[in-house]
Amino acid sequence: MTSPEPGELLRAPLFHTPRNPFLEDRALVSHDDGGLLIRNGRIAASGDFQVIRTAHPEAVAIDLRGGFLLPGLIDTHVHFPQLRVLGGLGRTLLDWLDVCALPEEARMADESHARRIAQGFVHALASHGTTTALVFGAHFAAATAALFEAAGASGLRIASGLVMSDRRLHPELHQTPQSAYRDCSDLIRCFHGRGRLLYAVTPRFALSASEAMLEVCRTLLQEHNGLRFQTHLNENPQEIAEVARLFPWAKDYLAVYERYGLGGRRAVMAHNVHTTASQLDRLAADGTTIAHCPCSNAALGSGLFALQRHLKAGVRVALGTDVGGGTGFGMLKEALHAYLLQRIAPEGVMLDAAQMLYLATRAGAEALDLESETGDFQTGKSADLVYIRPPGNTPLAAVLERAGTPEQILAAIFTLAGSESVREVRVAGSIVHPGPIVSQ
Ligand SMILES: [Zn+2]
Repeated sequence: MTSPEPGELLRAPLFHTPRNPFLEDRALVSHDDGGLLIRNGRIAASGDFQVIRTAHPEAVAIDLRGGFLLPGLIDTHVHFPQLRVLGGLGRTLLDWLDVCALPEEARMADESHARRIAQGFVHALASHGTTTALVFGAHFAAATAALFEAAGASGLRIASGLVMSDRRLHPELHQTPQSAYRDCSDLIRCFHGRGRLLYAVTPRFALSASEAMLEVCRTLLQEHNGLRFQTHLNENPQEIAEVARLFPWAKDYLAVYERYGLGGRRAVMAHNVHTTASQLDRLAADGTTIAHCPCSNAALGSGLFALQRHLKAGVRVALGTDVGGGTGFGMLKEALHAYLLQRIAPEGVMLDAAQMLYLATRAGAEALDLESETGDFQTGKSADLVYIRPPGNTPLAAVLERAGTPEQILAAIFTLAGSESVREVRVAGSIVHPGPIVSQ
């Protein structure tokens, strides 16, 4: 007879949002002297340390006081081949794609290059506390497979897919609908459901997909269970005008995707900066999530996101870094920029700390239809977490000396914590990133 695993009991202040703070008051759950009991990779209990200690005297306690436990961060929009084009400032979307992003994406034809970038990419996610991500793969099957391999080895929870396009990009990035169908089918068979990997059907955007290619997307979603879907929507006025020209039958940008059944509870569309009441209503009715990427929207001058209108219409919203149109991998920073840009947006939402935490964690889990598995610290979920502990002699350490309430502590973390403060990251209880050793 084997005795049950005693489990690990992590002791630190902890915060999570098991409920939606845009819909409910007091959605932030916090414990000043928190305990998180992990057993077989799952959260066996979360709450006050002493209560859990008494109920589980056999558990191995690990004292992490001095730092803070948050659910693993969830990035719902990020491009793997664009790691090296971060920082390409001074352009707008179509120009930036042409000059910065697409030439770099073409280099993914070289499989050894793709493997090297994939390693750096998954390391960048983990080192910023991201445990789950919905990732645009490459336009090349071997490079997309390299990402899946690296993601699988890293232990991260990654949904990704071959980026599908057959027109209007640089020609070396184009596939035919037939070759895309074949490559996607192979990748799905290889990687979908393997460990924590999921496949996401990924047309780049309507601009670069013919109707035949969009039909392939629909076919793939019909042929396989449990796939996710991701694309871009309404990012930039020139892009929107061009989509209108290419699809004269469509009443708006979203209608192009709707015609092919591309949307719904497991679909994430990035941006939706320039939107309409009709599109918001239809997104809400379908359950499609918008990945809001404030750093990218600002860096590319795409515009200010109408968060209030999305919330009022009942559209699901999560956060994405949009590397490399964005400004880095930090989801804490992304939440801060959502806050900052809402402060200056017309009818902006004054985001509070609970809402920022929700957007960076649980909202992303909901976007991927993974909220029963990750996104908060409720009992039974996978133990996906990030341990934040600022190095001594940093502004964040100084602020946290006097921050009192959970809201103040979280606001300080969102404002000041970079990857140097991400000390440990776990997925399903296993460490996927040890933070840097910094003397206190
Ligand atoms: Zn993007």
